[in-house]
Amino acid sequence: MISKKEYNKRVLLKYFVYSLGVIFGICILLWLFRITHADSFFIVMENKSFDLRQKTVSASKKVNDNIVILTVDNASYEYLSEKYGEWPIPRKVYADIANYVEKQNPAAIAFDLMFVNSLKSSKEEDRLLAAEFSKYDNLYTSINFDNLDEQIRKAENLPQKLKINLDNESKINLKNPFLNYTNCRMILSEIIDVTENIGHINLIREDDGIARRISPFVVYKGDFYPHLALKVGLDYLRRFENIDTKNFKIDKNMNLLLGKRKIPLDMSGSAILNWYGESGEYNSNSFKYIPIWKVEKLAYGEKIDGAEELEKGFFKDKIVYVGVSATSMYDIKSTPTERNMPGVELHTTFINNLLDNNFIRRAPLWIDMSLTIFLSLIIGFIVLRFISTVAASLTSAMIVTLYVVAATWIMRDFNLWISVIFPVIFALITFIGVYLVKYFRKSRDFEHTYKLATTDGLTELYNHRYFQEQMILNIETSKRYNSEFSLILIDIDFFKKFNDKFGHQSGDAVLRQVAQTLKKNVRSTDIVCRYGGEEMSVILSNTKKEEAVLTAQKLCDAVSNRIFDLVNNQKEHVTISLGVSSYPQNGTTPQELIEYADKGLYKAKENGRNQVGVLD
Ligand code: GH3
Ligand code: MG
Ligand code: MG
Repeated sequence: MISKKEYNKRVLLKYFVYSLGVIFGICILLWLFRITHADSFFIVMENKSFDLRQKTVSASKKVNDNIVILTVDNASYEYLSEKYGEWPIPRKVYADIANYVEKQNPAAIAFDLMFVNSLKSSKEEDRLLAAEFSKYDNLYTSINFDNLDEQIRKAENLPQKLKINLDNESKINLKNPFLNYTNCRMILSEIIDVTENIGHINLIREDDGIARRISPFVVYKGDFYPHLALKVGLDYLRRFENIDTKNFKIDKNMNLLLGKRKIPLDMSGSAILNWYGESGEYNSNSFKYIPIWKVEKLAYGEKIDGAEELEKGFFKDKIVYVGVSATSMYDIKSTPTERNMPGVELHTTFINNLLDNNFIRRAPLWIDMSLTIFLSLIIGFIVLRFISTVAASLTSAMIVTLYVVAATWIMRDFNLWISVIFPVIFALITFIGVYLVKYFRKSRDFEHTYKLATTDGLTELYNHRYFQEQMILNIETSKRYNSEFSLILIDIDFFKKFNDKFGHQSGDAVLRQVAQTLKKNVRSTDIVCRYGGEEMSVILSNTKKEEAVLTAQKLCDAVSNRIFDLVNNQKEHVTISLGVSSYPQNGTTPQELIEYADKGLYKAKENGRNQVGVLD
């Protein structure tokens, strides 16, 4: 028996070794994923889990009513094409619409539309629109970067006023391909000349086609350019907070610092957006969409039904983002919460995140790894401790579910994205692994118990019970196959005297060595048992009487020829007497066969011992 303290120590040690095993397993698995590129599978799955979590929690988020979208929707597209002919519509129309909205003192009007050089547009109209930009400092428009060959389109230089300074103290590589562009789609120089309210509208396309991030800035010809949404959002915030909109800094923890706000960035320098559910085009809880045809009509003095709200200062103090949602204009993106989201809503989502200060932060690797280890350890302990497989499975499933729920809750309340896929998959692997270990250990325990139940501790021969079982089995088999088998009974000669002379310990030593000698001199299919005391037996399956007698003689000689080691380095000879019986000629039940062999044994003793007693 071991003490309670010792027992506790062993249990602790066991769990410690097991924990090391789990951590080691994680490392091996991570390494395997790296070399087999299976990690991209985990990234894709993790992204999907992010989408699911976003869908789940978006209902609890509310958009800022001060951000609205003026959209060229399907109806507007029909109406404007009908009225002004082939797209694009005359620039004067945009100028007049902007003018109308400006009268209501909006916070900003941002065009997610690019005013590029167009043969369709007269220079006069371009100048009209540019005049609008010089008149209002809250009017914004966009520019777009790409990687077109310079032989096809010259990579123009952009004026200093559009650039920002960025000081990077993080390990984000600003030269990464997500941020860098070699060419630029130019917009009207008339507009560039009069305003610095121009931001880029590049969006990142992820491998699975879902838009989850926006780069707050991009790099073009070695200079940094802000995103349109960042520019619009910061200018809006500047009404209430002190923010430098020219000089930016990314701190060591990958945060883009904006006064007292921070935008957490990922390794590629992008911000992960926190979504507000389905597109506001269909979802009244999200951004309000106003079809631009209504404002166009109002701008030209036409009366329309149900537009009183728009006429009565609806746009006052609002950020009015102008974009397109018409299907024929192809500015549709898939996002975590919406399959068909107009690109403009990605901008408004960015701005809303900026105002709510709730961009998603991706948990660093060490947190994800710690959670993985933690979850795996818990699951492993459960499998180890629970006796019932059903209980262990149910509890493990419950804990994994709890983890996923917690991860969703953490995303909702802390805007933190912790890994779900790797921890859960690894917990599953741990579950199976620990279960297998437990199973094998159990079967090993069973073998051990079985051995305990069938063998004799002193001689390591089969015990009496096993002998009896085997006798019955051999009789049945021989009966069925009409075959024979034999039994040899063995008794050590003058063993009482031997014990008296050399002591019980030496007697035990001799018993062990006689057992060894017997085992060594019979076939592996023969069963050697300790019958009781200093008596032993051998069951020889498929063996005739004559053969058995020969074997018995061989055993007798082997024992008498051996010198036995006693305690205290003494040595001594020992002899045995043997009796033989065979099925079916000497008996058909265990008792009959044993009695017959015993008679032979008695005869051997009578005849002077150290021999095989043969009856008749
Ligand atoms: P015989 O030649 O007639 O068989 O003489 P014997 O002394 O061997 O006769 P008997 O069978 O009556 O004595 C058996 C003795 O074997 C009795 C006991 O002291 C000894 N013995 C039985 N089991 C053990 C054991 O496990 N260890 C030891 N050391 N001695 C044992
Ligand atoms: Mg005896
Ligand atoms: Mg004896």
